[in-house]
Amino acid sequence: MYIIQLPANNFDNERFRNSEWGPEAAASLCEKIRHIKAPFGLTMGDLIDKTSKDTISKVMLEEKLFETWYHGRTVLIGDACHKMLPSAGQGAINAMQDATVLANCINDIKSLTRSNITAALKDYQDQRFQYAKTQFETSKRFAVIMGGQTWPDAVVKLC
Ligand SMILES: Cc1cc2nc3c(=O)[nH]c(=O)nc-3n(C[C@H](O)[C@H](O)[C@H](O)COP(=O)(O)OP(=O)(O)OC[C@H]3O[C@@H](n4cnc5c(N)ncnc54)[C@H](O)[C@@H]3O)c2cc1C
Repeated sequence: MYIIQLPANNFDNERFRNSEWGPEAAASLCEKIRHIKAPFGLTMGDLIDKTSKDTISKVMLEEKLFETWYHGRTVLIGDACHKMLPSAGQGAINAMQDATVLANCINDIKSLTRSNITAALKDYQDQRFQYAKTQFETSKRFAVIMGGQTWPDAVVKLC
């Protein structure tokens, strides 16, 4: 996996939301990175040429930790409330943990009144938020170590 870090304000437009996901985007990214050195005296271009085109994807990664996870009878789990960078491999496990805790909180509801439902959803967020926040921050740190591109990131890698 080759990771390029974009400035935080680089994705807030229609072009990013649409064309940047298509196969053309993967092809143009491949052209940009062909010259980069790979192990055994090869370049990324050599590896790309040996790889079937339909197995190459350009994936946009973004991170966001929301503080509101429920409203009324609506509740968020998984990436919908805490999308983490995949560097630490924590996204799917946290989504499954959310599902388990939420199922238990719903199962504990004695009678389906609005206040009981709100209390159950609050209980779910209270149990999950801090843990998800910790994993979110860990994922961010791993992302810097694996793919940070800026000068301060390079210092972090050396430490
Ligand atoms: C490149 C990459 C590598 C990753 N590697 C790892 C890893 O190694 N380990 C790990 O734990 N996690 C990893 N993750 C993160 C993991 O994939 C996610 O955290 C996890 O899939 C989140 O699950 P989710 O159910 O919350 O969301 P999703 O898996 O995104 O599921 C949401 C579903 O809702 C559907 N949907 C969206 N909008 C609508 C709509 N309007 N109507 C109906 N359906 C809709 C989507 O099509 C999708 O099927 C990785 C992610 C990426 C991008």
